[in-house]
Amino acid sequence: MGELKTFPVSYKVEGKRIVIVGGGDEALNKARLAIKTTASVVIIAAHMEIDFSELPVTVLERPFEPDDLIGAALVFVADEGPDGEAAKLAARSRGIPLNVVDVPHECDFYTPSIIDRAPISIAIASEGDAPVLARLIRARIEAVLSPHVGALAALAGAMRDKVAAVLEGAAARRYYEELVTSPEVEAALIRGQGAEKAEAVLAQHASLGKAPGVVWLIGAGPGSEDLLTLRAQRLLQEADVIVHDQLVPTAVVDMGRRDAERILVGKQKGHHSFTQAEINALLVRLGGEGKRVARLKSGDPMIFGRAGEELEALRGAGIAYQIVPGITAALAAASDTATPVTLRKVSTGFVLATAHGANSEELKHWAALASAGLTLALYMGKSVAAPTAARLIGEGASPLIPVGVVIRAGRKTRKLYRGTLGSLASGQVELDDGPAIIFVGNSIAHGDWEAAVNLAVQEFRVA
Ligand code: SAH
Repeated sequence: MGELKTFPVSYKVEGKRIVIVGGGDEALNKARLAIKTTASVVIIAAHMEIDFSELPVTVLERPFEPDDLIGAALVFVADEGPDGEAAKLAARSRGIPLNVVDVPHECDFYTPSIIDRAPISIAIASEGDAPVLARLIRARIEAVLSPHVGALAALAGAMRDKVAAVLEGAAARRYYEELVTSPEVEAALIRGQGAEKAEAVLAQHASLGKAPGVVWLIGAGPGSEDLLTLRAQRLLQEADVIVHDQLVPTAVVDMGRRDAERILVGKQKGHHSFTQAEINALLVRLGGEGKRVARLKSGDPMIFGRAGEELEALRGAGIAYQIVPGITAALAAASDTATPVTLRKVSTGFVLATAHGANSEELKHWAALASAGLTLALYMGKSVAAPTAARLIGEGASPLIPVGVVIRAGRKTRKLYRGTLGSLASGQVELDDGPAIIFVGNSIAHGDWEAAVNLAVQEFRVA
């Protein structure tokens, strides 16, 4: 990031000239690009090697004159002779952006590979490093674009004033979203009835009045952008507001719309952190204002995410909601360590539990489950890891039961520790900072934890 040496912009050329100095193949290539625009394209060369008469360009077969640049927006030089030199000088002295074909260090700008679906344009640039790759990327993008995307954009543009008169803010955006994604609108457009259809859809939206809000409880997964569901990604893009916890990394929050409001409600040192009641009230208020709210939670929203309370508040206020599952930390931890948390003849079940605030009754149950071979995944237990392990042993679990800890599961920076219940209980284990899953159970011995064979070793090791 922050390393582009060029800045892509859409540069206005309407009513201006694009001047190309040169009369050969290179001039023709640039002319083909330039005529995609409404600029008047002028080609100047003392000797034309190519017949440009098929192109909508003005051909001046004579030496270049500095005044040729009057009213020019851009200059291309594809002439290595004196005309080319004169044109470079003239362009520089007038401050007109200059491209000298195949001489990068003399260029003020480069020409990207362009997909032209006017008024939509897509430019793929590689700063000259990989034009072939840029062309391949272009072909891929073209393959997924509807051939009508330009016409749809023009239709949206033509509706601007009418929309502004009846809809504003999020409601207007919703209208445009339907306009440009609806198969019916596209079908009408193909029949030549795009404008009528666009107005009919607008009338529908206007009659709805204030659109109802919705809250999406979205699982963000354990913290890597690519462990998000496609649905989560799509809804994040649609949300007007993103309400997220501290545990959801910026990279995931950044997948939302750039102009979406972001509210961090998680605990953060030195900042006000919201109480659960405040979060509930916030969601109800935003939903009530007609906003589309992405309530982004780490892992899966239904697992230790206090989703129950948020849902109850939303139901009580009559606000629509939808839940999008995510990869919970324990499953990410199982994958990270190749641990089959259920395993024939070893582990007949998998228990997600929290070690935080557990009472003896609960610990007794878990001790029995772990002794029966089930795998425990303990959440929110890092700070009480040693006493929890000791209490499990106190309730009858064997100190030899394998234990594994995964910190920052599902992220590149994850850290693994493994040992036994006894070694964890000894309290000598220093666990790294970050959220952790503590696995307890015989299945841990079947994972690919480094040196997992020697599980009776009384020491934890960083794998
Ligand atoms: N809804 C989340 C859990 C939130 S509770 C989920 O489904 O994963 C917070 C606890 O989750 C943390 O204390 C830790 O135990 C666990 N956790 C969350 N993200 C984690 C991660 N990337 N690696 C390990 N544990 C994590």
